[in-house]
Amino acid sequence: MSESVLIGGLNVDKVSRDSLADELIADVDRDLERPRLVFSVNGQGISMAATDPEFLDNIRKGDLRHADGMSVVFASRLLTRTPLPERVATTDFFHDAARAGEPKGLKFFFLGASEDVVRRAYYAAKDQYPEIEWVGFRDGYFSEDEEADVCRELVESGADVVWVGLGRPKQEAFCVRNAHRLQGITWMKTCGGLFDFLAGNNPRAPQWMQSLGLEWLFRTMQEPRRLLRRYIVTNAHAVWLFLTRSGRVARRLEP
Ligand code: UDP
Repeated sequence: MSESVLIGGLNVDKVSRDSLADELIADVDRDLERPRLVFSVNGQGISMAATDPEFLDNIRKGDLRHADGMSVVFASRLLTRTPLPERVATTDFFHDAARAGEPKGLKFFFLGASEDVVRRAYYAAKDQYPEIEWVGFRDGYFSEDEEADVCRELVESGADVVWVGLGRPKQEAFCVRNAHRLQGITWMKTCGGLFDFLAGNNPRAPQWMQSLGLEWLFRTMQEPRRLLRRYIVTNAHAVWLFLTRSGRVARRLEP
């Protein structure tokens, strides 16, 4: 179990990209009663947790939360005594997990996005990591009534890791609501727009923008209609939450 630090009202685990990949590999050999729910936290998620009680409840139920946004890492450096080691962007961690998983022939399943996007993402990733066992994919547009069937498909695939890219707050809610149906799977790893990146729909921001914590700006420039309001509102709110709910002075969202 990793230590955590309070940032913007949420406990964020002090993991690095390497240590998280090591945890995954170690967990695959454990006999877990249910999958571990591995979630990520960025400014948007911190803002959502403070305004949406259901999302807060679900994200708290995650077994591990890593810092997906550079702003969360900056906040930990400025406002706490025990900073996070680094940003673990899920779009990078996917590749860490695939590289670490290849020698063990880990089994990956992709759940989320449209049928066309997830198919293209799946085959692109399969080409890149041929030693991973690719056990299936499914689009992310299904109703709650269909979830039992979706879970059966996931379990029957034999997946070790299901990458769950349904967007917030749906992906966290899906994982929490269905964990009891997913015995045999090691990790349910939420991954937002990962499949859009892997399918080549969305380019990643240049490294200098990522290092300055400006990946959100790059994404907003690509999709201003969808993301401008999201990021302007949630970034301002997140900064307020960082300042008032981090480290020792924090008023904690979590009990
Ligand atoms: N999505 C989905 N089912 C839904 C709603 C969204 O599979 O009911 C997918 C959507 O197609 C996209 C992803 O979830 O691939 C969300 O991407 P977004 O960029 O919003 O996530 P972020 O990376 O910002 O968390």
